[in-house]
Amino acid sequence: MKNIPEIENLVKLISKLPGLGPKSARRIILKLINNRSELIRPMLSSLNDLYKNISRCQSCGTLKSSLSGCNNCENTEKKYSKICVVEDISDQWSIENSSIYQGYFHILGGTISSSNNPRNEDLLIDSLVKRVVNDKIEEVIIATSATVEGQTTAFYIQDKLKDTKVAITKLAQGLPVGGEIENLDDGTLVSAFKNRHSLNEKKD
Ligand SMILES: [Zn+2]
Repeated sequence: MKNIPEIENLVKLISKLPGLGPKSARRIILKLINNRSELIRPMLSSLNDLYKNISRCQSCGTLKSSLSGCNNCENTEKKYSKICVVEDISDQWSIENSSIYQGYFHILGGTISSSNNPRNEDLLIDSLVKRVVNDKIEEVIIATSATVEGQTTAFYIQDKLKDTKVAITKLAQGLPVGGEIENLDDGTLVSAFKNRHSLNEKKD
């Protein structure tokens, strides 16, 4: 399959995806070519929809469709008094799967000073403060990972929220050092939630 530019270009693109190298890319492409109408055509249309409609919600940071709105902060019937702050959407999925938490989520989309170096305003921390005030939130649970960057981010958030009356808690130190939320098993996650500790005394 060498030297066919259409194929080589796609090999390069697919190899950029997580967990896929050139070898798997070639296997995928072969499968696609052998199933043009069942795979390539619907995939083109799906990718096109994805490109056109899916973007990051500027309020809570999750992915949303411009057609149906944000499931995190627009399409919720229930009102919650808690927001759980996570680094990535995959962290939200892990926490939801463990069923330990009922409340809103806020997805930072990274950490302060992490290698991909998002600017602090990209982490939607100002919008977190706004949500806390507007939604009358009583507790912010910081569930950033137990890495240096995750902890730095937690302190930064705590500082930004100091003028609100919200209680700030952080997942228990049972998290393994360097532990990223999405890699934790349910048991560890549940106990980290149950044993979360306060970062501030609630001001009344
Ligand atoms: Zn949202």
